[in-house]
Amino acid sequence: MTTRFENGIVVTLGENNRVLWDAAVVTDGELVAAVGDAAEMKRRYPEAQSVDCSGKIVLPGFICAHHHFYSTMARGMGIPGEPAANFVEVLERLWWKVDRALVEEDILLSAQLPLVDCIRNGTTTIIDHHASPSMRDGSLDLIESAVRQAGVRASLCYEVSDRNIPGGGIAENERFIKKVGKGDGQIAAMMGLHASFTVSDETVEKCVGIANDAGVGCHIHVAEDAADREDALAKYNKTTVDRLHDLGLTGSKSIFVHCVHVDESETEILAETNTIVVHNPESNMNNAVGVTPLLKMLKKGVLVGLGTDGMGSDMLVQMRCAYLLHRLANRDPRVAFMEAPQLLLQNNREIAKRQFGLQLGEIAEGLPADLAILDYYPPTPLSGANFLGHLIFGLVDAVVDTTVCRGKILMQGKKILSMDEERLAARSRELAPQMWQRLQAM
Ligand SMILES: [Zn+2]
Repeated sequence: MTTRFENGIVVTLGENNRVLWDAAVVTDGELVAAVGDAAEMKRRYPEAQSVDCSGKIVLPGFICAHHHFYSTMARGMGIPGEPAANFVEVLERLWWKVDRALVEEDILLSAQLPLVDCIRNGTTTIIDHHASPSMRDGSLDLIESAVRQAGVRASLCYEVSDRNIPGGGIAENERFIKKVGKGDGQIAAMMGLHASFTVSDETVEKCVGIANDAGVGCHIHVAEDAADREDALAKYNKTTVDRLHDLGLTGSKSIFVHCVHVDESETEILAETNTIVVHNPESNMNNAVGVTPLLKMLKKGVLVGLGTDGMGSDMLVQMRCAYLLHRLANRDPRVAFMEAPQLLLQNNREIAKRQFGLQLGEIAEGLPADLAILDYYPPTPLSGANFLGHLIFGLVDAVVDTTVCRGKILMQGKKILSMDEERLAARSRELAPQMWQRLQAM
């Protein structure tokens, strides 16, 4: 199937970003066949199906470098007892009960609904981190089936932790990593771990062994709260990054999520080992854990990407949140204008390349056909030179009209084609109160 997405403004991104007015992207199967002037593309591909993108801007599909689909059913749930006063209490009173309360159909719905949200927001590639201690075995297969149904790309893992049983989740990761193998470009696998303070040396060593044998990276929360750092210092007399580095967890495919409480020497280790860091500004603000030293990390050459940590699936919102947070935190209106978009548009592209082996996040001939097409009439001139101004102050509030992944149209005219959102949400509303009851009884 060949399709011309035509008459819109095409922003190619990539190393040589081009902004093309009255342009077209031609897709053929899963790839982009050509990009250029709309009239010329119509002459070259007269037989192609036409999708009119007048009044719209065509961007590469967005990449989310850290998500938690499983958090869906916690929305609107009351938490018994006193409000959690710190991050560890948030985990103990909320998230470590939510994950235990999930049963089979909850896991599936908890993936399907955020995947609808991803499509709605033009997010076509997601790196997820899953937990469901009451059903570990086979849980990643359920999420995989939801991802294939949605039609997007996802890298999946189970977050191993010793908090319920020692090494809980190792077997599920190992099984799934073997099953996925080198991946098919749609599904990839990683070795997931919860966080330094919930895994013993023995557990980490087992995970690293499996990951190294399979050639995949590890995906772990690192120094999200000061408690993780204090735990590593107290138990091992090392900082969090030092401990995990000594256990072999660092490396170019590994993702260290958050890194809020890291010092200069830890930042140097992250840079030297080419380890990926993923920043989740909304989540850090929500949990009141502190501010990631983002600008310092970027200056030292650490590859820092952007995720939502399950707060949502809108990557432009996360990007603007990073922009605002680091301006305020540094009390400097000169910073973050380049850096916040860099996380989303450049660094997430590199992260996806390391996980999927694909050049995503760019529209160019021969590259994967993943597109986010937004309603946008620029009120001022728009070119490659001022694109970031339009991104931060205009596109962040623009509505996604059409989402394409692997050449397939997943949403058109704001209607999701690959999933029945209304039916899924109705079923989730039936099951959520049962899940909440199980949780209240814990
Ligand atoms: Zn997370």
